[in-house]
Amino acid sequence: MQNYEHSVLLDESKCTGCTTCLKRCPTEAIRIRDGRATINSERCIDCGECIRVCPHKAKKAVCGKLAGMDRFKWKIALPAPTLYGQFDNLDDVDYVLDGLLKIGFDQVYEVAKAAELVSAYTRLYLKTEGILKPAISSACPVVARLISLRFPSLEDHVIHMLPPM
Ligand code: SF4
Ligand code: SF4
Repeated sequence: MQNYEHSVLLDESKCTGCTTCLKRCPTEAIRIRDGRATINSERCIDCGECIRVCPHKAKKAVCGKLAGMDRFKWKIALPAPTLYGQFDNLDDVDYVLDGLLKIGFDQVYEVAKAAELVSAYTRLYLKTEGILKPAISSACPVVARLISLRFPSLEDHVIHMLPPM
């Protein structure tokens, strides 16, 4: 599997080795070693299920702080619709988009716009003769990695389109 930075961190001081995450990981990426959960990075698809189910909150998602973005020369924000949902009574998303520019991003591109392009292409693709059905969207990288790892026989069903990123 391609090398990339994973998104799950373990706080060893909180992990009790209870095996809850091990039982729920869809790719069997987790083992308990010396009483602590360890993740096999070759098998982890970054689905986040182990973060969600850990009863001791020992796992958390890797995230960066805004202050850390200064090390990048050109900063692009990709706001998803979920960002807008966090504001009460937001009657215009432009307030949020302007705000992102004001706090230091050089460019803003809405994820929803890319999703519209993907939907339009998908509609065209589904009309193509000879494609394998059911067709599976390539939009979610977690699903794409799950298929490649656990269900390789379905790989040809995945729509041939690079997901927006
Ligand atoms: S569920 Fe949490 S506490 Fe239990 S083994 Fe996994 S990380 Fe550790
Ligand atoms: S993020 Fe998903 S695939 Fe990776 S270790 Fe956790 S449950 Fe398993």
